[in-house]
Parts: sequence; C-alpha cells; structure tokens
Amino acid sequence: MADYYDILGVDHNASEEEIKKAYRQLALRYHPDKNPGDKSAETKFKEASEAYEVLSDVQKRARYDRYGSAGVNGAPGAGGFEFDLSDALRTFMSGFGGLGGFDDLFGTTTRSRRRTEKGSDLRVTISLTYEEIASGVEKTIRVKRYELCNTCGGSGAAKGGGQITCPQCGGSGEIRQVQRSMLGQIVHVHECRNCGGTGRVVEQPCRTCHGEGRTKVTSEVSIKVPTGVAAGNYMTLNGEGNQGRRGTQTGDLLVMFNEKEHPIFTRHGRDVLLTLNVTFTEVALGTTVEVPTLDGIAKLKIPSGIQSGHILRMRGKGFPELRGRGRGDELVRVQVVVPSHLNDRQLSFYEELREIESSIVESERYGKFSG
Ligand SMILES: [Zn+2]
Ligand SMILES: [Zn+2]
Repeated sequence: MADYYDILGVDHNASEEEIKKAYRQLALRYHPDKNPGDKSAETKFKEASEAYEVLSDVQKRARYDRYGSAGVNGAPGAGGFEFDLSDALRTFMSGFGGLGGFDDLFGTTTRSRRRTEKGSDLRVTISLTYEEIASGVEKTIRVKRYELCNTCGGSGAAKGGGQITCPQCGGSGEIRQVQRSMLGQIVHVHECRNCGGTGRVVEQPCRTCHGEGRTKVTSEVSIKVPTGVAAGNYMTLNGEGNQGRRGTQTGDLLVMFNEKEHPIFTRHGRDVLLTLNVTFTEVALGTTVEVPTLDGIAKLKIPSGIQSGHILRMRGKGFPELRGRGRGDELVRVQVVVPSHLNDRQLSFYEELREIESSIVESERYGKFSG
C-alpha cells in the first residue's frame, strides 16, 4: 500500500485544509458515479478515501505518522484491513455531503414534478342513439365543477389584500430533504403543502371561496359529438374540467360515449344489422319493400327465390366512419315467416298449392344436416 500522503499528493506536514482539498479533487475525479464500470478509477477512489479517512482524523493521523498503516488498521501485523467501496463512499459522504455544490454533482435528486397546481379532470358519459351517432349531434350537458371565484377573480385574496411569500418554503414551493445512503446523497424534493407548490399564500382569504380562488357551480357545456363514434370512445375537452386553486390551470373534461340499445338495429362495427320478416309468397315471387335505415325509410328489392336466412346488403346505409369519409352498410337478413294461423281463404290456396307441389321428387326432399 502506497503512502497515504503520496496517494493524496500532499506533504507530510500538509494542513487539514490541504488534505481535504486534495481528497476532494481526487474523489471528484474518480468517483464511481463518474466512472461507471472503471475498476482502476474505483481503486483510486477507494485508496484516496482510505487515505483521507486516516489523515483527516487528528489521532489516526498521529498514529499513522508514528507506526504507519499498522498503527491505524487494528492489530499490528494483521496485514491491513479491507476498505471497500461502501466504506469509501461513506467517507466521501461524511466529508463532503453537506458541502454546497456536491448535491448537484453526485446527489440523486428525486423531484416530484413542480406542480403548477392544475385543477382535476372531470369525466362524463353521454348515451347516444344509433341515429345520433349516424347523423352527428350536439349535446348540452350539465357539469358540476369548480370555476373561478367571481369575488376575488381567482386570486383567493380578500379585497385589498395581496399575496405574500409562503413562510413555509420561503417562496420556492418546495421542501427539500437530504438523505444519505450507501449510493450517495439523495435529495428529496417535496411540494410545499402550505402553498401547494406555488410559493405564494394569500394574506387574507376571500370570504366567498375561503382563499381557494374557485367555487363549485353547475355549468352547461355544449359538446359536438362526431359522427361514427362507438361505445368506449371518448373525447377530451381541454380546460373544461375543474378550475385549479387560486387561478391556476384548469383540468380537462373527458366525455365518454355510450350507445343506447336500439329496438330493431344491432351495430356491428360500421355496419348495422336488421332482420326483415317476409312471407313465403314475397320471397317466392320477389318484391320491393320499405325498410328502416339509420337515416329514414329506404326501398329494398327482394329478389324472387331468395332463401330464408340470406343477407341483402344496402351499401352506404351503415354508420359513418369515425374521422373518415366512408360509411358502413346495412345488412338485412331475410327471414321467411311461416304463418301459424291460416284463414279460410289462405287455407284453400295453400291446399291447392300443395297439390301442385306434390310432385316434389325424393332427391330434392332430403339433404345433409348442417348447423
Ligand atoms: Zn374568492
Ligand atoms: Zn410554500
């Protein structure tokens, strides 16, 4: 082990101040935070710290001067002690932890983002009919929220009274706490509770809002719902949430969309589904029927011979694309309804029909069972 004085690069009669200064320079140069993974730097840091540990202590230094390292490292002849990195860091911390300038160099500063004290966000849910979603709609809703206090204009101060520097944090809006750890000095920065991080407090609070600078009111907010929205979609109205305290930033209003159940339509993405009940003769002969769509009644041609369960597509009669140009389709599932009651006239027609159809051949009657 090299001589402690040599390690620090000072004379044997160096003053405490010189030793401290020399160590500080070496420690800063070889600190592991600055030389990650560099073993030789770590060794130099440890050596310097060990040397400083001894030479900065008057008694240890005196023993070292008389007996060498054996004089300070426990039992003579024990062959030196292990001065590991954590010891070195501890030495470094106790030597300089409190010195100005070191916090910024090595201190790990955990800073809770300096809040400009924003008002909180609000959330509302709007239920929409399919028709409203298809055509777009403007809705007016009532929102209970904080708004700027009319009496003090948001300052929170009574008339004539102003704001003063927060006595708790001295106007910085932050409370700093220094914690020493094996890994170095950790500076915790908390927001000052007294002023909410603003650094200012009111001298005399406004009577209306008790110094909050805001009051709770019910307001009407108009929302232009874009066409094509779906359940689960939402939009953010910036600045329509709660007013922050004492005139600080306002939160947002989150508008969630919900779909009302429709008596006949089912939504499937951009498409809308409808079941159309038709009679046997309608599908046998073919016809044109009127069907409801999202934007009113439209005509639909039922081709003759269409089978029950088949789907007819009405292009462009579905939901508009959200933020797009296209539109989905209306899918009409044709369902042949078998009459459960026949009047006399129907009965005679059906009996006659049976006679005509009696020639159905065996090969046409049977098919493989599916689904
Ligand atoms: Zn007020
Ligand atoms: Zn404060």
